[in-house]
Amino acid sequence: MHRLLAAFWLLVALVGCRLYGRYADSRLLITFMDVGQGDATLIRLPGGQSFLIDAGLRTRRLDMGKRVVVPVLAGEGVLKLEAAILTHPDADHVGGLVEVLSSLKVGALWLPRYFLPAHKPLLTETIARARERGVSVLPWVAPTRFTLAPGVRWWVGVGSGGSDNDRSLLVRVAFGPCAALFTGDIGADSERVLAHLGDSTVLKVSHHGSRFSSDAVFLQHMRPQIAVISSGTHNRYGHPHSDALERLRRAGSEVLRTDFHGRVDIAFDREGRFYCQSALGSCGSGYCSDSRPN
Ligand SMILES: [Zn+2]
Repeated sequence: MHRLLAAFWLLVALVGCRLYGRYADSRLLITFMDVGQGDATLIRLPGGQSFLIDAGLRTRRLDMGKRVVVPVLAGEGVLKLEAAILTHPDADHVGGLVEVLSSLKVGALWLPRYFLPAHKPLLTETIARARERGVSVLPWVAPTRFTLAPGVRWWVGVGSGGSDNDRSLLVRVAFGPCAALFTGDIGADSERVLAHLGDSTVLKVSHHGSRFSSDAVFLQHMRPQIAVISSGTHNRYGHPHSDALERLRRAGSEVLRTDFHGRVDIAFDREGRFYCQSALGSCGSGYCSDSRPN
C-alpha cells in the first residue's frame, strides 16, 4: 500500500514538474512532428499558450491525429490549444484535426475564408466537430499583424493563386530577432509575394519540398538558417525533390527532413539564440540573424 501511495505521489510530482516546466519556459518552442507525408507543427509561446498548425494525414486506415499528434500534445503536457490552424483542406493537413478537436480543449479553428463554406468531406467533418465542441471558426482573408504573449509578433496572411495549395494560410511568428515562417503548400509564385516579410530563422519548407516550391528569389530574401521539410519515407510524390534541396543548400540553409531526422524541436530564447534538436541529436544552435520586425 505504501509503495502504491509513493508511486502515486511520484506521478503527481512528475506531472506537476512537466506542467510547471511548460508554464515557466521563457522560450518560444516549435515542434515539427514526424507525421510521415503531411504537416503537423506545434508552437508554444513563452507563458504557455499553444498553437497547432495542421494535424497530418487521415485515410481510411490511418489517422495521424490519433497516432502522432494527440500523443505528442499529451506528452508535452499541452491540455489546451489557443487555436488549431488549418493551412488548407488537403487530407495530409486537415486529416488529424477531428481527433485533435475531439481530444483537447481548442479555443478557435483558423483557416482561409476561401475554403468556406466547406465542400471537401474531411473539412466538412472538421468544421462540424468544431461547432459541436463550441470551437469558434475564424476565417482569414487579409494579412494581419498582432502580438500574442509579451514580445511574440505574428503575421497571418493567405496565399493567392489558382490551386488550394496556393491559397494556404501563411503564418510568421517572430520573437526578438528570431522568426519562423510556415508556408503550407504554396508554390513559387506565392512564395515570391512573401519577400517583404524579411528574414526568417526557420522555414517550414513549402509543399514537402516539391520541385515547384522553395523558389530561389524567395529564399534569397528569407535566408532561412534552418529549413524543415515534412515528408514521408519513400512517399509516392518523390518529395523532397532534388532541385528544391539544391536551392535550399545554395541559400545556405541547414536542411532537416522528418523522413530522415524524425521529429525536430527548435527553441528561440530571449537572448536571440536558437537551439535545434532532432530525433537524431543536436541539429545546431546559434544567434538568429536580424529580421525585420513583424
Ligand atoms: Zn501537403
